[in-house]
Amino acid sequence: MLKFTNVIKILAVAICYALIAHFTHLYGTENGIVGVIRPMTGLGLAAVLLGGRNYLAAVFLGSFFINMLTLNNAFAAFAIATGSTLEVAVISNVLKRDHSFNFAFTKLRDFIFLLKTTFGDCIIAAVIGVTTLYAIGFLASEEITKNLLHWWMGDVLGILLITPFILVVYAYKVNPHHVQHNPVKKIALILLAAFINQVVFFGWFHESLGVVARDYWLFPLLILGGRQLGVRGVTFILLITGTQALIGAVQHIGYFANDLEKTQLLGYWIYMISLSIGAMSAVTNLDEQSQKLSTIQEQLHCNLDELHYYKFALDQHALVTITDIQGTITNANLKFCEISGYKKSELLGKNHRIFNSGVHSEEFFTALYQCITHGKTWRGEICNRAKNGNLYWIAATIVPLLNKDGKPTQYISIRTDITERKKNEEMIHQLAFYDALTHLANRRLLIDRLERAIIASERTKEYGVLMFLDLDKFKPLNDTFGHQAGDALLIEVAQRLNHCVRKMDTVARFGGDEFVVLLNELGADGVEAKKTAWAIAEKIRLTLAQPYQLKVDGKIIEHQCTSSIGVVDFIGVTKSQDDLLKQADDAMYQTKHSGRNAIHFFEL
Ligand code: GH3
Ligand code: MG
Repeated sequence: MLKFTNVIKILAVAICYALIAHFTHLYGTENGIVGVIRPMTGLGLAAVLLGGRNYLAAVFLGSFFINMLTLNNAFAAFAIATGSTLEVAVISNVLKRDHSFNFAFTKLRDFIFLLKTTFGDCIIAAVIGVTTLYAIGFLASEEITKNLLHWWMGDVLGILLITPFILVVYAYKVNPHHVQHNPVKKIALILLAAFINQVVFFGWFHESLGVVARDYWLFPLLILGGRQLGVRGVTFILLITGTQALIGAVQHIGYFANDLEKTQLLGYWIYMISLSIGAMSAVTNLDEQSQKLSTIQEQLHCNLDELHYYKFALDQHALVTITDIQGTITNANLKFCEISGYKKSELLGKNHRIFNSGVHSEEFFTALYQCITHGKTWRGEICNRAKNGNLYWIAATIVPLLNKDGKPTQYISIRTDITERKKNEEMIHQLAFYDALTHLANRRLLIDRLERAIIASERTKEYGVLMFLDLDKFKPLNDTFGHQAGDALLIEVAQRLNHCVRKMDTVARFGGDEFVVLLNELGADGVEAKKTAWAIAEKIRLTLAQPYQLKVDGKIIEHQCTSSIGVVDFIGVTKSQDDLLKQADDAMYQTKHSGRNAIHFFEL
């Protein structure tokens, strides 16, 4: 159901249609019906495009009414109105079917599409109208072609001048995010155009400017001023130019003063069509370009904002440096300056080598540089030295920036501080493999080292030796002076044992007052190896038997403690680690039984 307000709107459009038609029939036609300017068709099309099919009724009513008034023939008025309505229906349908057709004429293709559709379909009303006029005897047969052409031309011009203007005004109202133009420049250009129109089409300053006051003046203004005017401004100028030029022609003044009589406004039509095509093509193209440009700019802004955000987030999280391919620092972030202890100004221009901690081998860095110089990303953990000499650990990702030949031009290092984690790992390792009291290797580490020693001996064919030690009469020290005294003795024993062996040997606390010493690579000669082992065992026995000065609660306790030692040798994988431990233990017990403070070699 049609709402009352819609009926009013449709009637209003019908009245406008009829009024415009009346004036164009009156001033723009030779025979009162057919002329080269039919703005009412442009109005009707815009109404249907914006308001929907209901407005076809406005076209029909307006057309029927005015033709009835002019021809006083209901059949002819009906037929002509049907032709005009059908034409508007077809054109609006074609335009609306293409969903990419934009009322704001933001792209050149929108105007080209309107142009093509108008040029093609404006023949409908012309054919029906002229046929009807011929049928009722209004036109003679020799007038048909001319009237057909004029009717078509009239509709084409009417649509190209009126429809874009109305659509653009509507589209800009609906979407305020259109390209903004400077209003002062825009108004100035419109006034200038109106003034030029007055000069050209109304003969203003004719005496002084008569010769040069030609129609082409509008072209440079519309085409060059298109950027400031925008589509809305251009369609408006086209509209006022069309109106001013038409009024001038009708009043027989200005540039088209004789056009009505001479060419039946053909000159006017060609001028307006050329101006409209030229100006609309230029402005839509410009608008399209500037929209593309502003989209690119917007995207660039977005990307830049995003990049700034990423950089901010990265700087919060990571230590970042950039170096050239020689390793010279070209940039460093604040977080990196903080951890390294250097100011940024101290870092720039320095080589990355200043952070070298000495913890990593030459091979480590060779592998790293080989990776990044080949354009690959390196990931790993590095220990660096800060300005104050402290060591810190970082987990680093070094990314080479490559040129178009795939060769690195810069390296970006993104790292996180893992010093705490490394300390924790170290602590866990210490707890897992070392004795908490004496810091000697614990039973687990000893067994691991023994296993490796057996395998190594198998390979090298060299003897190894395992010694089992137990302190003699250790318990009474605990009982007399307390556990603290016992602990102090155990610590001192551990230190003395470490002094008796080489770095490559292992001293372990096996539990309680039991210690194990593992000697490797004692040579391939069994007798010699035994001799060496005996000498070391004797050295240990004598060293441990030296008096101890134990500090307990600020007091020094003098104490004497000997040890019982059992020794077993091994070569290759002939004996398992359990066998070896048991045999060394047996030998140690033999020592205990034979009176302590001595050494026994395990014999089968
Ligand atoms: P033996 O000559 O037969 O070895 O006599 P001993 O008194 O040394 O006896 P044994 O080796 O069996 O005793 C070891 C003692 O070591 C038992 C325990 O009280 C003590 N002990 C074990 N672990 C610790 C420790 O961590 N700290 C201290 N202070 N004493 C410990
Ligand atoms: Mg003991």
